[in-house]
Amino acid sequence: MRIRALSVVPLLLAAIFTVAQTTPSGSSQSTEFPPEIPSFDLTAMDKTADPCVDFYQYACGSWMKNNPIPADKARWGRFDQLAERNLYILHDILEQTQAPGNHSPIAQKVGDYYAACMDEATVEKRGTEPLTETMNQIAGIKTKEEMIEQVGVLQRNGTTALFAFGQMADMHDSRQTIAYVDQGGLTLPDRDYYIKDDAKSQEVRQKYLEHVQKMFELAGDKSDVAVAEAKAVLAIETGLAKASMDRTARRDPKVRDHMTQVTEITASAPNFHLTEYFADSGAPKFSSLNVGNPEFFKAVNEQISATSLDDWKTYLRWRTLDSRAQVLSKAFVDEDFQFNGAYLSGQKELAPRWKRCVQSTDRNLGMALGQLYVDQTFGPEGKERTLKMVKAIEAAMHQDVGQLNWMSDTTKQKAYEKLSTIVNNIGYPDTWRDYSTVIVKRDDFAGNYTRAVTFEVQRQRNKISKPTDKKDWGMTPPTVNAYYRAEMNDINFPAGILQPPFYGKSMDDAVNYGAIGVVIGHELTHGFDDQGRKFDADGNLKDWWTADDAKAFEERASCTADEYSSFVTVKDDKGEVKLKGRLTLGENTADNGGAKLAYLALMNIIGNTPVKPIDGYTPQQRFFISYGQIWCQNVTDQQARRLAITDPHSPGRWRVNGVVQNSAAFQEAFGCKAGQPMVRENACRVW
Ligand SMILES: [Zn+2]
Repeated sequence: MRIRALSVVPLLLAAIFTVAQTTPSGSSQSTEFPPEIPSFDLTAMDKTADPCVDFYQYACGSWMKNNPIPADKARWGRFDQLAERNLYILHDILEQTQAPGNHSPIAQKVGDYYAACMDEATVEKRGTEPLTETMNQIAGIKTKEEMIEQVGVLQRNGTTALFAFGQMADMHDSRQTIAYVDQGGLTLPDRDYYIKDDAKSQEVRQKYLEHVQKMFELAGDKSDVAVAEAKAVLAIETGLAKASMDRTARRDPKVRDHMTQVTEITASAPNFHLTEYFADSGAPKFSSLNVGNPEFFKAVNEQISATSLDDWKTYLRWRTLDSRAQVLSKAFVDEDFQFNGAYLSGQKELAPRWKRCVQSTDRNLGMALGQLYVDQTFGPEGKERTLKMVKAIEAAMHQDVGQLNWMSDTTKQKAYEKLSTIVNNIGYPDTWRDYSTVIVKRDDFAGNYTRAVTFEVQRQRNKISKPTDKKDWGMTPPTVNAYYRAEMNDINFPAGILQPPFYGKSMDDAVNYGAIGVVIGHELTHGFDDQGRKFDADGNLKDWWTADDAKAFEERASCTADEYSSFVTVKDDKGEVKLKGRLTLGENTADNGGAKLAYLALMNIIGNTPVKPIDGYTPQQRFFISYGQIWCQNVTDQQARRLAITDPHSPGRWRVNGVVQNSAAFQEAFGCKAGQPMVRENACRVW
């Protein structure tokens, strides 16, 4: 299934990378279980390359040549291979639980969900019937007030439309969870797609119009009607896009910080009928909330009155079709894939159904499926050994802060305080989510999907006006990823990432510190990047920096932003695309900091004891090769373009070369000389 955000994107969650927008998969039709991914892979290297000229080519050259992107993928990297392997493990679990037998209640539930998804014949037979009730409700709307009421109904069942509503920790008192409204309602991946005037953006909009038209035709509308409907949808979404703030500006939490009385926002944007909307939202009562982008509500307030009711109804029908395309019959699934997978991402084939069904189960009942996954793959020793590395890298960060020559002791004390209060979450949550109220039927995939998504929306809304639940995880245990949350001040490593190639039980420290060690250092550094540094030890938006230290930080961060702005991510007949140094600043800061901290921790372990080379490489060299190989990947040009606009992470090549160019330790390990490409004249160092 395509990854879709629920009503509110968790803005403060900084992950190690962005999960591909398309389904992970290997050789598309094979169900052969993929082997374990090697932690340190000599066969991935291109030894004809000079590590001081292009380290990425040196570490990954042969891997890139020998691992073309599978037909049902837009990006293929070593961590995608691990995600693929997890998918097979989950597939085995679901095949067992969907078969008749004596199952635990949660095994029965995930098995039934998966079985209903796999029952393509029933899905096909039902056609658009699962949408009938919603489409009738939309058809029956008589006023703009009823239109907003319907927006509320759609949002409660997980269909994003018009704006976003949800919960967040109060940025000024993270112990309390508050209500939150923000810009939203777009279908294309970013506001830029609607606003930019270059040839490529115009082409995307033309293709989008054709796609919306086809989907309306599949839903039963006549061709000429569908053409007009597509235009109405694009016009409405263009209005929402113009009222939206851009992604880079939104990185600054202060820009999204507007505590407002409900009465105030209602008065400034009356056409949203927010008083009624909130009353029907299923959320506990609240009198004030954070308005992420107040200008959006003012601008769209005008748009609500200026646009005809019929066009709004068309927009709501469109959002319904788009959000449910994947649970409908093959014609909808295929058309959805043609636009989002093939055209926007460069994927050649749709992934086989079983993979999409495993992903859908992980997405919608992931804490139940994850419990079964953890039982099978992740023992208590997994938690222990990870915690040991986390502690070693936290100690390295303490040491690193102590050595900084640009930061005063006053600010250093605050940094130590923040560092010492970071909460380490490893593997899986302490208590498992209770899905007992989610009804799952073996012959109703669309219904199961809606009930599970509705449950999650409601579960999030229930948090409003209550103490913040800092124990709730933002990712499911099988996920190959990791994250830091500024408002929780915690670092989180799901079980899915704590295995080769990130962590190998039998590998030397150099290799493990170069891989999962850098991931741990990366997440720690997020607490001190351009966003994270604005929050204090308690997760509150509070400036703990002296003015001089803040200025020194900004200067150093600007160096990193400029460095990455010069990197080209794609160059084809449609032109050249460079990275956005300010959009990717936090992640690049975390990559550079993470590598430095993990290296420092490794040196603390090795000390002065001479360590013999392995495979002909010193521990120092193995550390950096291991780091480089985590990011071996191939990406379609289409996906590279899309990620350059939407992804705060840099692509693999620059995550590696961008870091080693700044690293004296790397240059020493490989004997690089001033003037060589992997030796940056003015090295950028924040942490
Ligand atoms: Zn990150």
